[in-house]
Amino acid sequence: MKPVKAGNYEADFVLDDSGFGSILPKLLDLESPSGFPVRQALFGHIEDRIKVTQFDRNKIRITVHPECKDVWFWLIPFSNGRSSIGVVAESGFYKQWDDNDSALQDIIGQESRLTGLLKNAVFDQKINALTGYSANVKSLYGKDYVLLDNAGEFPDPVFSSGVTIAIKSASLAAEILDRQFNNEAVDWRMDYAMPLQRGVNTFRIFVNAWYDGRFQDVIFHPRQQPEIKAMICSILAGYAWDENNPYVKNARARLDTLLQL
Ligand SMILES: Cc1cc2nc3c(=O)[nH]c(=O)nc-3n(C[C@H](O)[C@H](O)[C@H](O)COP(=O)(O)OP(=O)(O)OC[C@H]3O[C@@H](n4cnc5c(N)ncnc54)[C@H](O)[C@@H]3O)c2cc1C
Repeated sequence: MKPVKAGNYEADFVLDDSGFGSILPKLLDLESPSGFPVRQALFGHIEDRIKVTQFDRNKIRITVHPECKDVWFWLIPFSNGRSSIGVVAESGFYKQWDDNDSALQDIIGQESRLTGLLKNAVFDQKINALTGYSANVKSLYGKDYVLLDNAGEFPDPVFSSGVTIAIKSASLAAEILDRQFNNEAVDWRMDYAMPLQRGVNTFRIFVNAWYDGRFQDVIFHPRQQPEIKAMICSILAGYAWDENNPYVKNARARLDTLLQL
């Protein structure tokens, strides 16, 4: 990268890693609708004061709202007695509340198990809000740039796929750029955009089915087949690009069949 004058740089190639800042998508008019409704997350860190006997601190807990299947909570315990707590809903769901702090605490109060776990919790930090985080773009690459991570596509936080997609996109792009700088022929569409989107689309199918309730019926079904559970867990754990997994190769059809069964 060559400095032109203080604060200005000329680069041969730009990797946009600005996340929800979406610098290049905004500058180059690359943003496109995500296909998901506008959802909003309210979240923050709390001193959770959860009794050890009540809770496995090595696990993240996802809880679904008792009445609204598309509203869900995360509770991510840290080792120091604090937790990240958050709720996700369509933005209209929050309209009766004026401030984020009381909204989050009231909505937690609507779910009895979470209320029980957090009955002694201290909400000692500001609660943040993030609205319309789902992102999509018209193109993930151009002549001299590529969009990484959330600056490209981000379907939804429900399966914690964000960092997986971020690392996948960065590692694919680094390898291609290395070849490009060595004057080898590269094809950003075939080698970057298409493989990246394959995994993102797999996540997208499960995200859609989560919000319309179908995938929740699978997850919470009392009779589960261990092999199928393992294949699905593998995807949600990040192996969304593993074409040896039938639920990756034919995600939509497989999920539909499973739902019928
Ligand atoms: C509600 C919610 C919950 C989530 N929970 C999880 C989870 O549990 N697990 C998980 O894996 N993922 C989760 N994610 C997704 C995860 O946060 C992102 O996918 C991940 O952070 C992507 O990394 P990134 O590098 O693209 O963006 P970021 O981590 O946002 O990094 C972008 C960086 O660019 C900087 N930046 C932006 N604009 C500018 C600018 N103009 N100039 C200079 N710097 C700039 C920002 O300050 C930031 O440091 C969640 C997302 C949301 C919305």
